[in-house]
Amino acid sequence: MVFLETNKNGNREINPIESWKYGIKTPTIDIEFTNLTYTVSTGKKSEKDILKNISGQFKSNELTAVMGPSGSGKSTLLNILTGFQNDGVSGIVTINGQPRDMRTFRKMSCYVMQDDLFQPKMTVLEAMHFAADLKLGFHVPKSSKQILIIDILKTLRLLHAQNTMTEKLSGGEGKRLSIALELVSNPPVIILDEPTTGLDELSSTQCIDLLRKIALTGKTVVCSIHTPSAKIFSKFHNIYIVASGQCVYRGPSNKLVPFLSTVGIDCPKTYNPADFVIDVSCGEYGHDFVKKMMSTVNTKFPITPIQRTMSYDIEKSYQKNTKVQWHIQFCVLSKRMMIQTIRDWNFVLFKLIMYLLSGLLLGCLYFNLGGDGSKTISIFLFCLACSVFFGYIPMIPIILSHPHQLQLVEREHFNRWYDISPFFWASNLSTIPVAMSAATIIIITAYSLSGLPLEYYRFAMFSSSCILTMFISEGIGFVLGTLFSVVCAFLFLILQNQKCILILGFGDITPLPIYRSCLMYISHLRYGFEAMVISIFGYDREGLSCPDEYCHYKMPIDILKIGHMESRDFWINLKMLFAFFIAIRMLLYYLLQRRIHNRINPSNNKTKKKTIFRLGNFE
Ligand code: ADP
Ligand code: MG
Repeated sequence: MVFLETNKNGNREINPIESWKYGIKTPTIDIEFTNLTYTVSTGKKSEKDILKNISGQFKSNELTAVMGPSGSGKSTLLNILTGFQNDGVSGIVTINGQPRDMRTFRKMSCYVMQDDLFQPKMTVLEAMHFAADLKLGFHVPKSSKQILIIDILKTLRLLHAQNTMTEKLSGGEGKRLSIALELVSNPPVIILDEPTTGLDELSSTQCIDLLRKIALTGKTVVCSIHTPSAKIFSKFHNIYIVASGQCVYRGPSNKLVPFLSTVGIDCPKTYNPADFVIDVSCGEYGHDFVKKMMSTVNTKFPITPIQRTMSYDIEKSYQKNTKVQWHIQFCVLSKRMMIQTIRDWNFVLFKLIMYLLSGLLLGCLYFNLGGDGSKTISIFLFCLACSVFFGYIPMIPIILSHPHQLQLVEREHFNRWYDISPFFWASNLSTIPVAMSAATIIIITAYSLSGLPLEYYRFAMFSSSCILTMFISEGIGFVLGTLFSVVCAFLFLILQNQKCILILGFGDITPLPIYRSCLMYISHLRYGFEAMVISIFGYDREGLSCPDEYCHYKMPIDILKIGHMESRDFWINLKMLFAFFIAIRMLLYYLLQRRIHNRINPSNNKTKKKTIFRLGNFE
């Protein structure tokens, strides 16, 4: 039986709340894969087959274990079956006997990866609520979501930890939460990579018990597992053993020992069959046995092709775009990010205090020099210090945190929680309040202490240049965090540092050689710096007071001249900063799409198209 309801538009769709509540009965999905081969290139002309022509079936109502020695290809097989890995794959995957339609399959499956990653600063209950809002949208009433969440938490024995922060959960609880978060949308196929690794024996048994219980509600549950205890091993309905990328056993767990006897190797009575078969697959009892197992498995356990189709209603229901609307995704993600920012109060407070101290330091270094004609160069350097501060400091925390955040986004996006675009907008907008507050503190402190002209338009011009430089720097931080690891991103900053020397461009040579001008004007730091200097010395500012007999740079126009800025316009600089800001954010959006979306939805790359064709009805 399948639980369907009629929605507002008269279409019939699966109601996840009811289907979970009544222990039913999403469609039953049988997965079959035939002659799967996965090849990676290992040098200019050499290739390596990680999976070699392997075939098998994972059925509904069954808990299947994918076993094998470390490095045998378990994770690779699961990555391919979930669609997480597409490049270099050949073979056929069918769902209920029909060629797999990747879009539909992704809507009915979830992938729980080996290491647990959670949104920080959330309790278990909050994490579940955000998952429910993102996966079910707002049209499911809050009360129903609450019932669903409590129901899942109860089943997964997480109710006692509902108010615990996710980062404080124990290993077993963390693993169960990873599963609970995916169960919200009640997917008929659940694939897990080593869910028991790192757990003690009791937690592992509880975890496998739970997966068995879930499988018996009609779901297809497949998990890779390294070396289960005999007790855990007996809980699996089916075992699929991989050795060096080839299948050496597929069939019921209780038929493994008789199978080993038929190939001529008896499992000692006191041995755990799971340990024993892994030893055999590693070649510890001779490679002949491994070869014999590979050839015998096909005759002993031949694959009978699955002959059924999905019910028309179900297929249509899953083919429709079941994702919640853009604005809901955006609102939920923004709320989640805001809560995380507020909860990370220590960081916010630290940032505000650091900016205040930096403002005080800058203000003290250049104390009251703003109107002093004998210290004009110092104010010029003050602007340089500001442009370097706003050009670098804001990107550092982003470079450090963004790569980790992206891993989480990759997973959540893969499991169809949300699209890239609402995430992009939410993450860009959610940084604004703290960034603006910190910038305001440093600008007001440094500007007032250094005695710069207290004219509102000069202050507004100076502040806007600083703030735009800061947002560009944040954007560069996001771009570097998307492209590189933390270490590489910091190495890239060394190159950026050299630009500081170039943006100054004054003093030595007049006119500047063309290459120096070019280098100067491809950097946003130069535009920010120029805008700051012009906002202080430009716009026909009167001559400064001169405490000595002679002040060389008494007239503001002279200081503009040594920086080659006498004919430059503030607004052009501001427009250029704005153009940089837009360009960096567009680049960021493109890179996010490329990194996350294209990996999961291969459609516009030649080699990927080859894979799509080979895997059948992919798009
Ligand atoms: P496990 O069974 O431990 O999960 P994996 O599926 O992660 O093993 O990996 C199987 C084998 O494939 C390993 O030997 C691994 O080093 C190799 N491998 C996986 N991906 C690549 C790759 N992109 N390039 C080269 N070797 C790879
Ligand atoms: Mg693995």
